Amino acid sequence: MFAVHLMAFYFSKLKEDQIKKVDRFLYHMRLSDETLVDIMTRFQAEMEKGLGKDTNPTASVKMLPTFVRAIPDGSENGEFLSLDLGGSKFRVLKVQVSQEGKQNVQMESQFYPTPNEIIRGNGTELFDYVADCLADFMKTKDLTQKKLPLGFTFSFPCRQTKLEEDLDVDILALVNDTVGTMMTCAYDDPSCEVGVIIGTGTNACYMEDMSNIDLVEGDEGRMCINTEWGAFGDDGVLEDIRTEFDRELDLGSLNPGKQLFEKMISGLYMGELVRLILLKMAKVGLLFGGAKSSALHTKGKIETQHVAAMEKYKEGLANTREILVNLGLDPSESDCLAVQHVCTIVSFRSANLCAAALAAILTRLRENKKLARLRTTVGMDGTVYKIHPQYPKRLHKVVRRLVPNCDVRFLLSESGSTKGAAMVTAVACRVQAQRKQIDKVLALFQLTREQLMGVRDKMRTELEYGLKKQTHALAMVKMLPTFVYGMPDGTEKGKFLALDLGGTNFRVLLVKIRSGRRSVRMYNKIFAIPLEIMQGTGEELFDHIVQCIADFLDYMGLKGAQLPLGFTFSFPCRQTCIDKGTLVGWTKGFKATDCEGEDVVDMLREAIKRRNEFDLDIVAIVNDTVGTMMTCGYEDPNCEIGLIAGTGSNVCYMEEMRNIELVEGDEGRMCINTEWGGFGDNGCLDDICTQYDKEVDEGSLNSGKQRYEKMTSGMYLGEIVRQILIDLTRQGLLFRGHISERLRTRGIFETKFLSQIESDRLALLQVRRILQQLGLDSTCEDSIVVKEVCGAVSRRAAQLCGAGMAAIVEKRRQDQGLEHFKVTVGVDGTLYKLHPHFSRILQETVRELAPRCAVTFMLSEDGSGKGAALITAVAKRLQQQRKEN
Ligand code: ADP
Ligand code: MG
Repeated sequence: MFAVHLMAFYFSKLKEDQIKKVDRFLYHMRLSDETLVDIMTRFQAEMEKGLGKDTNPTASVKMLPTFVRAIPDGSENGEFLSLDLGGSKFRVLKVQVSQEGKQNVQMESQFYPTPNEIIRGNGTELFDYVADCLADFMKTKDLTQKKLPLGFTFSFPCRQTKLEEDLDVDILALVNDTVGTMMTCAYDDPSCEVGVIIGTGTNACYMEDMSNIDLVEGDEGRMCINTEWGAFGDDGVLEDIRTEFDRELDLGSLNPGKQLFEKMISGLYMGELVRLILLKMAKVGLLFGGAKSSALHTKGKIETQHVAAMEKYKEGLANTREILVNLGLDPSESDCLAVQHVCTIVSFRSANLCAAALAAILTRLRENKKLARLRTTVGMDGTVYKIHPQYPKRLHKVVRRLVPNCDVRFLLSESGSTKGAAMVTAVACRVQAQRKQIDKVLALFQLTREQLMGVRDKMRTELEYGLKKQTHALAMVKMLPTFVYGMPDGTEKGKFLALDLGGTNFRVLLVKIRSGRRSVRMYNKIFAIPLEIMQGTGEELFDHIVQCIADFLDYMGLKGAQLPLGFTFSFPCRQTCIDKGTLVGWTKGFKATDCEGEDVVDMLREAIKRRNEFDLDIVAIVNDTVGTMMTCGYEDPNCEIGLIAGTGSNVCYMEEMRNIELVEGDEGRMCINTEWGGFGDNGCLDDICTQYDKEVDEGSLNSGKQRYEKMTSGMYLGEIVRQILIDLTRQGLLFRGHISERLRTRGIFETKFLSQIESDRLALLQVRRILQQLGLDSTCEDSIVVKEVCGAVSRRAAQLCGAGMAAIVEKRRQDQGLEHFKVTVGVDGTLYKLHPHFSRILQETVRELAPRCAVTFMLSEDGSGKGAALITAVAKRLQQQRKEN
């Protein structure tokens, strides 16, 4: 017993001595955590350099874009071919990816030799050989009849310009092995966004935000970056870390000065480093009693698999002895212990360096996502990582120590990079197919120039119909006379009350107009109209309106005052004079009973009487388009058109009296309220109407009516978007095919979200956040698609509106017999004011479709309210003049 204890003591003492000796000798190879953090920081800077446009040419870490933008989402399907040309082997695979309930991958493969003369030969020979092997494989697997998409793993740095390199066959993807590894792992674990290889060479890839990749156009989404981190240090930034052995190994290599980081890490070099160290230790008498062998002098005699064998837990020491004996050496017990420890230091340093660089990538990912804590998965492959007994454990431990704020899962890539190439191909196939489906939907909203000209011409026809006595009754565009004959001339003055009933709110205003200076002062109060009142009875609606007026008068201290009043009423009214207006039909969100066919001025008067508190002199009922035109006309005499792009869509303009058959007299002009929202109600827009427009129409309060308005105005654009999103989700192209309750909710997608999502200043992540606030759980790719959908819908709206406007200005030009026509359009409405692109696209369309008209758009400041007061003032002035005559 005692002897055994003594032996054990003796052995551990011996081991301790040997470890101390080697530790001292290789002091420089043992990296402290402090040093590793320092290396990590340096690698972060290198990544930054590689990504920058100006710094990339001189950067040693090349950060190559791979054009792989998406990771598998599990819906991939089909058969794919895959080639893997690595450092030491060439393999052809057939991969079958299927969904059927759970994700499933089946593979058949064959290895082919890679003769040295072909690898070292020229490119043509290499690719001829590859093609021969592929042909052979397809023959033996009976695949010659099929045309399968093919992915190609190529483990050498490759500058790619696009994913599908044009090499005659159906090569869909050229894939770096790190990317293949990441994709393979991502198929099993969607949170995998990094791939690392520690094999013959070493390299890593990860998903970078497009906005950080200067070398590739576009800012949306992410793309996989192949770091080519093996070249880290080639510009000298790791000189303080490199040892005399690293320098010696480099000088003896095929590519001196290159891949310096890789030479400290990967399988091709690890054994050689150990050999150089052992040789040196023997030379200085620290090993083998100073004896050397010719094998120990020979390059490549110690391989990485030897290093792994020597570090095995149990057989390690025996393996060491055997390996050293095979090298022609005669090692003592202590020699074996020392050599084993040399291996440990070399392989540990390798793991440490990898961990530092990987920690830099993980930190970058965390910072890109602006997260305090990152939860992610790293796909791993490579022989060193796979066969070395302690390597993975050490690497994981150091990474977790270096980035304590990341929860990292390491996933071994199953049959690694080759399957990955098939995965990349499968994803490319899926993305391509999905893209086609999405484009098909978006194409429905893309109108050609011819289609827009068609809309313009049909609108023109409708304008004429509405003006003619014979056709007026059946016209879809009602062309209602407003009995507004003139624009303000600047002599108007006094205090006026104005009411503005729009699509959503009701405002009461006090407007003071001072003559001469064309200045207007306004005081106003906004009142909400509750839904139950919008859709209750007419009496309730007008009682509510009078209640609001009473509140306002109270608030302004004007209770007894009998002021002239103008009523802006943004719904179609048939007028016989300026203070009478019969409601043709409700639009937008209104549906109060007993109003259609009634004079709304009378209804207001009666409500005032019912209340019996005050009296008001109702002088004019005004459409909001007219008010808007008036307001702008007050400042710009060229203004003779008014446009509203808000909850609804409508236009008015000054028409020649001789063209207005419904009103007596041929002299002068009168403003016509077109009510163009009803354009298309006879089916004349059906050719551009989509299934989504139909669904929106069917779900509305006035199905079959206001078809043009439903394609162009704020109340409906969000709904159209929602209908498209539902359909895309149903097709499995969005939100992982899951239609949430939220998405089913009518009205959740308000038009203001289109404005936010389409803003150029908004990063994709913010789009995602908006969607998340809406309860739509979206990925980055989803967000891109949603943004495209919003863009297509709002663009079409602006173009259609522009086509209508082109019809109006062209009509005015021709009616006046002008070669060129210069006109100003007064505009109001939140869609026009707040949407980031609507106004620009509208103007571009008008320019294109009415090239002989110079149209200026003028935003009306508080158009409809102020306009009502101005119209009242003008009417008051004319009344006065009539009395005096
Ligand atoms: P109204 O037309 O009812 O008199 P507005 O001109 O203010 O009033 O238009 C209100 C409509 O504008 C809302 O119903 C909504 O559809 C739309 N809207 C609101 N916010 C935005 C926004 N940020 N961008 C685009 N449209 C908006
Ligand atoms: Mg309005």
